[in-house]
Amino acid sequence: MAKGKLSIHTENIFPIIKKWLYSEHDIFLREIIANAIDALSKREAMDKKVGKKELKVKIEIDKDNKCIKVIDTGIGMTADEIKRYINQIAFSGAEDFVEKYKNKDIIGHFGLGFYSSFMVSDKVTIDSLSYQEGAEAAAWECEGETEYKMIKGSRTTVGTTVSIYLNNDSKDYIESYKIKDILDKYCTFMPYPIEFEDKVINQKEPLWEKDPKEVKEKEYKEFYKEYFHDWQEPLFWIHLNIDYPFNLKGILYFPKLDIHAMRNTGMVKLFCNRVFVADNVKELLPEFLLLLKGGIDIPDIPLNVSRSFLQHDKEVQKITGYIIKKIGDELKRLFNDDRKKYEKIWEDIQKYVKYGVLTQEKFFENCKEIILFQTTDKKWLSLSELIAEQTEEKKKVHYTTDANSPYIEILTKEGNKVVLADELLDNHLYQKYEMADNNLSFTRVDAQVAESMVDKDTVEEIDDKGKGASDKLKELFEKQLDDKKITVKVQALKMKDIPAMIVFDEQMRRFMEMNSMMNQEEDKMSITGYELVINSNNELIKKLGNMNAKTDKDKISLLCRYINDLALIKQNNYSPKKLQEFVKMSSEILEMIN
Ligand code: ADP
Repeated sequence: MAKGKLSIHTENIFPIIKKWLYSEHDIFLREIIANAIDALSKREAMDKKVGKKELKVKIEIDKDNKCIKVIDTGIGMTADEIKRYINQIAFSGAEDFVEKYKNKDIIGHFGLGFYSSFMVSDKVTIDSLSYQEGAEAAAWECEGETEYKMIKGSRTTVGTTVSIYLNNDSKDYIESYKIKDILDKYCTFMPYPIEFEDKVINQKEPLWEKDPKEVKEKEYKEFYKEYFHDWQEPLFWIHLNIDYPFNLKGILYFPKLDIHAMRNTGMVKLFCNRVFVADNVKELLPEFLLLLKGGIDIPDIPLNVSRSFLQHDKEVQKITGYIIKKIGDELKRLFNDDRKKYEKIWEDIQKYVKYGVLTQEKFFENCKEIILFQTTDKKWLSLSELIAEQTEEKKKVHYTTDANSPYIEILTKEGNKVVLADELLDNHLYQKYEMADNNLSFTRVDAQVAESMVDKDTVEEIDDKGKGASDKLKELFEKQLDDKKITVKVQALKMKDIPAMIVFDEQMRRFMEMNSMMNQEEDKMSITGYELVINSNNELIKKLGNMNAKTDKDKISLLCRYINDLALIKQNNYSPKKLQEFVKMSSEILEMIN
């Protein structure tokens, strides 16, 4: 028997391991199994005599001794190798980890390795027989102190048994459901069979390992449903497969977004050589992709380094860039090759894409031509298709937030398309497009009197003072409303049934909407002002113009205010106080009829 001292740098790192790593205890098993898997692949590569079937890991629970055993048929270690790998390499790895952990600067839970077993145990033993000719079994034992023991081992078959004797605080791990949970989380895709309670728990092949050309649509869907436990089919998926300039394989699924899916966010799993590492690594995936589901395996990613390093790491940035580009490319491919299918999924994926173009400049450049706009006649058109349809000035897109707006008909009659904007992100999206192209503008149907709304055939009579009916109406409204923030303009409009419309500068309104500067009590119109367009083609307005200024004084005043408020209502920004006034005015008007 030989005794030795583990540490030269640190007096005793075991208390630190136990004290500092309280949050992620489960990973001890992943680390030990990952080592076993490593040892299996080494044996497969080096030991010509071993058959593939022999290569596996077995997990056993010994309830009497409160011990978890991880038994592999891997490459094994001689006594010398245990000294080198466990006492030196593994130890300095653990020490390094603890150092980083103390600085709170590690990315969750990577790289602790073999010594993570001491998070849950008082004693760990290794019993190993190397594959080398004539090797003798060797054993190692350590009770969470700096001292370890080396004795003769008892293994008779090649491989390693790691026995973890649980400490009092970690007795829960003796329950098989607990072990099963951990195995399911971390080991599903590991490349050698892992047996637990006589069952192999990981028969799944990660589908991304296959050549995309050989995977059928049905397989993608089945894999998705089984692995993500989603009863709904994914909308769309992208198979990532690259080996230069870095190695990456994976599948990203776009799930149908509903309450159910929202609850299950955080489902892009990161693997390192099939070992589960983490969910949704924010440093790797842009925000707009965090709602996707899928798996990405990156064998070479420097995961055991700090988050801040990861954020600035050029390799990681390249990987993120690649993922974003690939998603854009696939969407474009579908847009060009199967427009019907693209339109079908667009309704569901538009939130992802819009959020993506708004937050990632490169994604915008890649996807700006494949964003679809729904028109009031239920067509889905891209920006250039929309512009090609407009009859007015070049590069103007009319949109509406109100599908019943009376202005739609006028514009569409002339041949224009009107876009239905009802998405939260649309205001921002229009702004984005306008910023990228100075000649392009999005205008809400009521943000201006469109050329096509004006009735150019109406000719006005001018009286002997050189004033037309329009001038008189303008004066009348200005006097009655008596508000400097309201600019009155009189025009003959084609929609005869509308007495007046409010024109509220597009940019100003958007600015207000985006900043939600409008509070409930005050309507935004009265803060900034607006243009009131009086329709001289409307019967009520004509009558109003002909009323007697003296005898109809009260009536005129009431009607002017009423017409103004009626137009305001269309703009949907009525404060509760205003609404009260409006109801009061309405009843006064009804009384007038009597
Ligand atoms: P890492 O796995 O990151 O190298 P560990 O601390 O987990 O660090 O392990 C250190 C070394 O111990 C491994 O690189 C390996 O050489 C050896 N080792 C650990 N477990 C086994 C095992 N089950 N079979 C053979 N060698 C092992």
